[in-house]
Amino acid sequence: MSYLAKNYNRKKISFVRGKGSYLYTANGTKYLDFVQGIAVNCLGHANPKLIKTIKDQSKKLWHVSNAFEIPEGEKLAKKLCKKTFADYVMFQNSGAEATEAAIKVARRYFYSIGKPNKIRILCVKNSFHGRTLAAIFASGSKKMTEGFGHVGGFDHFTYGNHKSLRNKITKNTAAIMIEPIMGEGGIKVIPDWCLKELRKLCDKKKILLILDEVQCGISRTGDFFAFEKSKVKPDIVPIAKGIGGGFPIGAVLMSKKVASGMTPGTHGSTFGGNPLAMAVGNTVMDVVSSRKFLNNVKELSKHFLSDLNLLKKKYPRIIKNIRGRGLLIGIQLYKDQAMFIKKLMNNKLLTIRAAENVIRILPPLNVKKKELDQAVKIISKVCAELR
Ligand SMILES: *Cc1c(COP(=O)(O)O)cnc(C)c1O
Repeated sequence: MSYLAKNYNRKKISFVRGKGSYLYTANGTKYLDFVQGIAVNCLGHANPKLIKTIKDQSKKLWHVSNAFEIPEGEKLAKKLCKKTFADYVMFQNSGAEATEAAIKVARRYFYSIGKPNKIRILCVKNSFHGRTLAAIFASGSKKMTEGFGHVGGFDHFTYGNHKSLRNKITKNTAAIMIEPIMGEGGIKVIPDWCLKELRKLCDKKKILLILDEVQCGISRTGDFFAFEKSKVKPDIVPIAKGIGGGFPIGAVLMSKKVASGMTPGTHGSTFGGNPLAMAVGNTVMDVVSSRKFLNNVKELSKHFLSDLNLLKKKYPRIIKNIRGRGLLIGIQLYKDQAMFIKKLMNNKLLTIRAAENVIRILPPLNVKKKELDQAVKIISKVCAELR
């Protein structure tokens, strides 16, 4: 009997220990973990640097109120701004909080320049921006919003339908919010030219561009942000997942222009940006933002993707497509997704589903080449069994 509410359909397995790319059950069975808490543990399990950071900081100071200055947060905000488009950062505790705060920043900016009616956010139909009330209505998915009443202020366009995108912009639109790579949506990569056109459109219509990098950001694609390859400059970027390496951290990055609306009292979070979280964030940032680390992610990705594409060639009736960039990878199947994931798990490889019959593969960013090879072997074996 479980006292947990039944809002998850959990697999009947649990783990007692993790190390790097691996998870271990109580009886010592070892699994190659290519879920990593859904792109959260970017440095794998039990990373020595993160252990040391949390140990050291836990002896000094865990939590103080945002009523006071927090030097660890100042440090992390500075690193994030120096590395990216951003001029200012606001810390939160999760992805949904970060996307919600991003929406608040956009609305508040227009309010502060005397355009209080510009509040509507235009999003991709069936995207994913988290599970708070506003975030589910931003996502515009029937499955997620059913039974939860209504939160207004969101419009939707169909992915890839540029005419519907243009038509949905009204005088009350404040911003367009999209994921540069749709994670839950099936590892759908928005092409660079689309991001460029999107930026142009936002400039022309004088609206803001919010790029949700909660899943695809923090070096996951081999660039610190997925949008960097397109060279566009967003106005607001919510982040979370990877930045804490397993510790819950969210944040909103923003330009100086839009930050002008966020005056004292306009937003807050009790836990957001506390010293313990910020110490961990600083260590993650130091590791994952270095040129050398990013280049290694790109190298590993090239090797892995090329092997996966060979498998696709070998099993054209099983694998429909290999999607993604960096170590944010999707295998789109012809065969049943749940069955495939189960077979991978029986062979000690953990993966997770995404929309459009895609299996998501999210290794830690410091994964070893031989671990990627091991995964390819297991996927190949399952494909051979199904042929
Ligand atoms: C995971 C995710 C969120 C929500 O993050 P939570 O920490 O679960 O609230 C928001 N946006 C995207 C793109 C995500 O992948």
